[in-house]
Amino acid sequence: MSAPSFQTMWAELARVGKDPGTGGYRRYAWTGADLDCRAWFRDQAEARGLRHETDRNGNLWAWLGDPEAGDAVVTGSHLDSVPDGGAFDGPLGVVSAFAALDELRARGARPVKPLAITAFGDEEGARFGVACVGSRLSAGQLTREQAHALRAADGTSLPQAMEAAGQDPDAIGADPERLGRIGALVELHVEQGRALDLTGDPVGLASAIWPHGRWRFDFRGEGNHAGTTRLADRRDPTLPYAETVLAARREAQLAGALATFGKVLVQPNGVNAIPSLVSAWLDSRAADPASLDTVVAAVEAAAREAATRSGVELAVVRESFTPSVEFGHALRDELARILEARSATPLPVIDSGAGHDAGILSASVPTAMLFVRNPTGVSHAPAETAAEDDCVAGVRALADVLEGLACA
Ligand SMILES: [Zn+2]
Repeated sequence: MSAPSFQTMWAELARVGKDPGTGGYRRYAWTGADLDCRAWFRDQAEARGLRHETDRNGNLWAWLGDPEAGDAVVTGSHLDSVPDGGAFDGPLGVVSAFAALDELRARGARPVKPLAITAFGDEEGARFGVACVGSRLSAGQLTREQAHALRAADGTSLPQAMEAAGQDPDAIGADPERLGRIGALVELHVEQGRALDLTGDPVGLASAIWPHGRWRFDFRGEGNHAGTTRLADRRDPTLPYAETVLAARREAQLAGALATFGKVLVQPNGVNAIPSLVSAWLDSRAADPASLDTVVAAVEAAAREAATRSGVELAVVRESFTPSVEFGHALRDELARILEARSATPLPVIDSGAGHDAGILSASVPTAMLFVRNPTGVSHAPAETAAEDDCVAGVRALADVLEGLACA
């Protein structure tokens, strides 16, 4: 029995959850596409004789060796996507993990530690609004109560969605025992910028993840007729919303940070109706927490000022926050040592503006990340890509790392 190649795995997975209209992926937590991705993961585990399980928080695991032995070397990423996301963000790390294990076996390497491949559940938070739900729950950074309160736009709660998918929502919660068995977690990910393209390297090592968060802005005005309501009589929430978008751009530019309103819901969303409510989500990130605080505070102040001028009420709620992550030097140095011993050139070390499960879990276990070059830097969109040669280089680097960390 031979395990499916990288190309075969990639082609199989590429069919799951792809929207024919946009060419993007819609693999939202606990939907049919997500369940198909999970079935694919189990098939890959079985094709390689790996014992697989879904943990209490919906994360997938495939084990080579005895999990109870401890000091496991774990690699993987996630399979879910943002709305109309690209093919690589997440899946590249999972497919590469299986391919790297095949490469290890082909080399005849003998693991002396348990090895696991993982796919964390609901990393993107596309359906329930909070990113990295699976890893946050395991790390105790999201409580069962908080998770049970999460709702999708259509009103479905996270527990309802889990239950419908056959997963017990009452079992979720911190999982220190499982995390305690991990000696090292290495997540390979497509780069979500162009740093490696600029240095000319196919693979790089992560240094840090910027602090980032999501804030919900509810501008509440008064719904009315677009044809009969005098401008002076209107309490139109789109006006302060529009000013807030411009303020976000301005403040981010001033601070050398990032701020984006990428999601907005308008009620009642009729062409000839003045909206009653505009709900908009700010995603902001910066190199350090102080800059992030400055940007968000300034955007909120601008929103309040504009809302007051328009007779609109404003409520701002922070829905999620992830502090800055500096990946531990010990594991990072070890990866650099392993990889540089084989390549003879120094490995570029880059930071990430995007959050990852490895970042969440860095508070609980030693974690590190490898990035694979993305020639356009586009991510969270269908144009996200990586060259096949670079994917192969990523698999080889990951196999080198697993061999260096887990084999005799
Ligand atoms: Zn990702």
